[in-house]
Amino acid sequence: MKEILLCKYGEIILKGANRRYFEDMLCKTIRFRGKHFGKFTVTRSQSTIVIEPRDDAADMDGMFETTLKIFGIVGVSRCAVCEKDMDAIRRTAREYLPPFLGGKRTFKVEAKRSDKRFPLTSPEIAREIGGEVLSVVPRLKVDVREPEVTVNVEIREFGAYLHAGQFKGAGGIPVGTSGKALLLLSGGIDSPVAGYMMAKRGVQLEAVHFESFPYTSERAREKVFELAGQVAQYAGSVNLHVVSLTHIQEELVKNCEEDYFTLILRRYMMAIADRIAAESGCGALITGESLGQVASQTMPAIGVVDPLASVPVFRPCIGLDKEEIIQIARRIGTFETSIQPYEDCCTVFTPRHPKTKPTVEGVLEQQNRLPFEALVEEAIAGKTVERVRTEF
Ligand code: ATP
Ligand code: MG
Repeated sequence: MKEILLCKYGEIILKGANRRYFEDMLCKTIRFRGKHFGKFTVTRSQSTIVIEPRDDAADMDGMFETTLKIFGIVGVSRCAVCEKDMDAIRRTAREYLPPFLGGKRTFKVEAKRSDKRFPLTSPEIAREIGGEVLSVVPRLKVDVREPEVTVNVEIREFGAYLHAGQFKGAGGIPVGTSGKALLLLSGGIDSPVAGYMMAKRGVQLEAVHFESFPYTSERAREKVFELAGQVAQYAGSVNLHVVSLTHIQEELVKNCEEDYFTLILRRYMMAIADRIAAESGCGALITGESLGQVASQTMPAIGVVDPLASVPVFRPCIGLDKEEIIQIARRIGTFETSIQPYEDCCTVFTPRHPKTKPTVEGVLEQQNRLPFEALVEEAIAGKTVERVRTEF
């Protein structure tokens, strides 16, 4: 007996000419991610992608866990393949299926024959295998209308497939099918979630982190690399640009009114991110802002920062409560890293009374006390970039 994975993908996007492109991207991602777990063959048949190990060394558990993090896959079934012979199918049903039936009360068997030469009809196969399942898990009851789990038996050309139930996939659409965007990645809770959410909609990520060494530490930077690796489990590898704002912040503190520090700093961030986006072929920026969460996230505050971007700014957390963002952060595994207490450049010179209703004139009057353009260029000239690979 051999085990394979059957990945189901969503139907909505499959209409028309998109289908081929979507499937190709998905297969490419699966093949690439699969290399970490051994040798696999990835093929498609109908609306299913079939992942087969090519030898016994392939790590099926690892591969399975990974498929649950690949956007575009809505459900994954672990499936046993055996000979097309009723004795072998019965034996496989007894040995392979019980772990998938744990905690379930009702089931049904669905059988399908694509090989019509097989001696039993589909209803006959279903009945036989239903009996086998009951013999090894006697507490189960058959419920053909609303079973908690459905056992599938498929008689295919090269063998019989058996599987029970489907594990929920990450959903969304394959990364790369919506282009590329630049994520402003802090060490906080919200921005990794924002990156995850946009990757789910098919966006390939590039990331930028702003630091303010020595006011922010080496450890704070490492934390951001760790977060990028965690987001990359879903989004694929990302290039992480690191930009120092130290000089800008020192100039700000010397020349501008304290109430405006955060806003002007955010205008710098936006302007610098916009340049990096243009250089790296990103069609949008992504931030983790949530309306009203802090002083710099009021409507007027966002309003005086937003125009610095020449591409759309996606803010997928804008309408979410902190609690909702935290829930996602926990589910995707970034939360524990995010809450490690390291300083962020936004918090090193925090105004006591930040402006919540700034005007463009007010902000410009402050900003014009500094050579904005020259400081932006200097910051970009000192930038570093590193590729952060998917953390397994
Ligand atoms: P987060 O939890 O994502 O840090 P936050 O609630 O702390 O968000 P802010 O610090 O105001 O809010 O930042 C708002 C957004 O600006 C962040 O979600 C992020 O996209 C971006 N940002 C803030 N600080 C940085 C930074 N040091 N480097 C890169 N982006 C940043
Ligand atoms: Mg923050």
